[in-house]
Amino acid sequence: MSEQLRLMAVHAHPDDESSKGAAAMARYAAEGVEVLVVTCTGGERGSVLNPKLDRPEVWENIATIRRAEMDRAREILGVDQAWLGFVDSGFPEGDPLPPLPEGCFGLMDPEEAAAPLVELIRRFRPHVITTYDEEGGYPHPDHVMTHKVSMVAFDAAGDAARYPDAGEPWQPLKLYYNMGWSRVRMLALHEAMLETTGESPYTEWMKQWEERPDKGDRVTTRVPCGEYFEARDDALRAHATQVDPDGFWFAVPLDIQQKIWPTEDYELVKSHVDTRTPEDDLFAGVR
Ligand SMILES: [Zn+2]
Repeated sequence: MSEQLRLMAVHAHPDDESSKGAAAMARYAAEGVEVLVVTCTGGERGSVLNPKLDRPEVWENIATIRRAEMDRAREILGVDQAWLGFVDSGFPEGDPLPPLPEGCFGLMDPEEAAAPLVELIRRFRPHVITTYDEEGGYPHPDHVMTHKVSMVAFDAAGDAARYPDAGEPWQPLKLYYNMGWSRVRMLALHEAMLETTGESPYTEWMKQWEERPDKGDRVTTRVPCGEYFEARDDALRAHATQVDPDGFWFAVPLDIQQKIWPTEDYELVKSHVDTRTPEDDLFAGVR
């Protein structure tokens, strides 16, 4: 295939692209693939998670600040990015859980919310789309809705009878779920940290995880991208309101990650091309 390859990564909030599949995207972009990050919401209801930026003027301007952070992350990863313009649902907390705010992304009808994504797919014409699994990867209502609209849009974009006003039909060839945060990967990093330094930042996490099923056995595709872990971390740090630069995310040295788990991992969910799993390339069968 001599045609320009294109990858679309659908995410819920600005910052999600930098913690899920960022190194693989940076690698594909560096190799000449056109990469478009689609951000469903503006992250307007996100908290300030970096204690160094937890100030009233930051909270007041969070939407504007997060757009600027996204611009910086996009530049670092070498990708393009588009906003779908939906409103962040926030992460409901409490018992009982409060209702989601009116008009937010998480409350939308997936068929209706998929319309701008269908239009974008028909315009960008990706060969491969990545999104979240049926549980959203983690149970944020915007992540679950991101999954739903991606599934609707992947099938509808190639069907001229659906969304007839959204442009010329285009059928993407493969759909993947991000599977980077499997227990098996965290355990491997946890054990490597214990072995090298005597302590692990994941000790508490690994204990909590014992009750949850691991999705590691769903991984079909491991994309080598260790060289781009630094770019991934730089992009994540660019979302300065959302991550503590001295925190958990950056606690495992890059050389340990590159040695122990030098890939980003995915589950192939839909394919219109012949490919055999396990794969090491999202474009296997497309090239
Ligand atoms: Zn998110």
